[in-house]
Amino acid sequence: MNISPNVNELLFLPLGGTGEIGMNVNLYGHNDQWLMIDCGVTFDVPLKREDDIKPLVRKHRVVSADLSFISNRRDKLCGLVLTHAHEDHLGAVVTQWEQLQCPIYTTAFTAEVLKRKAYRANIPFDLPIVVVDANSELDIGPFTIKWLPTTHSIPEANALLLSTPVGHVLHTGDWKVDNNPVVGEGFKDAIFKSLQQKNIIAMVCDSTNANRAGHSQSEKECEKGLGDLISRANGRVVVTCFASNIARLITLAKIAKATNRYMCLFGPALENMVSIARATGYWPDDFAITPRRHVGYLPKHEVLIIATGSQGEPRAGLYKLAMNTHRDCDLDESDTVIFSSIVIPGNEKSVKRLIDLLAERDVKVVQQADTNMVIHASGHPNSEDLKKLFNLVKPKCVVPVHGEPMHLSACAEVARSQFIPSQLVGLNGDLYRLAPTLSIKRKAIDAPRIAIDN
Ligand SMILES: [Zn+2]
Ligand SMILES: [Zn+2]
Repeated sequence: MNISPNVNELLFLPLGGTGEIGMNVNLYGHNDQWLMIDCGVTFDVPLKREDDIKPLVRKHRVVSADLSFISNRRDKLCGLVLTHAHEDHLGAVVTQWEQLQCPIYTTAFTAEVLKRKAYRANIPFDLPIVVVDANSELDIGPFTIKWLPTTHSIPEANALLLSTPVGHVLHTGDWKVDNNPVVGEGFKDAIFKSLQQKNIIAMVCDSTNANRAGHSQSEKECEKGLGDLISRANGRVVVTCFASNIARLITLAKIAKATNRYMCLFGPALENMVSIARATGYWPDDFAITPRRHVGYLPKHEVLIIATGSQGEPRAGLYKLAMNTHRDCDLDESDTVIFSSIVIPGNEKSVKRLIDLLAERDVKVVQQADTNMVIHASGHPNSEDLKKLFNLVKPKCVVPVHGEPMHLSACAEVARSQFIPSQLVGLNGDLYRLAPTLSIKRKAIDAPRIAIDN
């Protein structure tokens, strides 16, 4: 289909992430140019359902959106803006680089994550990354982009204000209202309230937790919950969490110090993220990491292990501990494993298998459902957070993204409840016209996905 935005139009075309959680790839079109926001990956359905017979040998493919729509008109792609460093937002940049080859705009932490991915993938040239500060404003093609710092579950998450002569759009990226995010500053109402004067024509909004009532929990809440569990444990404590949650890692380092435990990292992803946090100034100098080979020589009650593998991944540190095949540590009945994470939909069986393996070794396991204390906080907005942002910004229209259809509908419903005049609910491949008038063309392009790694 020949889609070419004219000078009076502002178009939105999601290639990924709308109708699913993961693989976010968003295009905005105006005056014959396109701007891409985020370029992430997701896990597709398992290639084989072997897990029914042999748990944990199931194979996921890492997939990305098919970018041929934009690579076929690469001269019209004025740039790629990355909102934050989660894999579902930047995981495909390196592998899909041949198709993009445009300037990349992002903040320092995200740039560092991307550079290291490129280095590991042996990209033979420097990525053209323009590092911007929080609160920057830049002209990129026919768009003016203003970075708006927000709070999420990784440092330097940003919403974006896209301005064109035909209207302003707020692209929220991933966010929640967190007044005490542990890393970085708390959510600032004033940043978003100031957008009311702009008459935002559309707010393209994270819908992940739109069907959850109440407010999201603050990252700070985890300190109390995890601190309580760890201080009451007698043997070793293993905490598994997402490696990119620097705030959670800092919280755990703080608890390690307070409870006289040595903190060790089991998993290269954790070592990489702590190294990035150090390089970008987020890691406090006085929080030491003990080399993991020392763990076996330490008294059990002085050990706090942070391990990857909260989703039951067979090659991760926690799985090796559960199988008793980790070279640095054998767990036993005096030890505790805390899941400071959620089970990502689709991973229920592999997580259950992991917990069964730990139970066979009589290791105590604590998941969020087992305690009233907060041991994990999501990075996405519950319905009360959405209501708050809708009322701060007062957009003319809400475009729910970053969710499965039920999450998108729930986000639209919250918008309706707050008297937002319009909601446009669509899917990947639908063409949303945001200016001069609101409309949606269903299935304007095919939105296939392609495997980029097995
Ligand atoms: Zn995110
Ligand atoms: Zn995301």
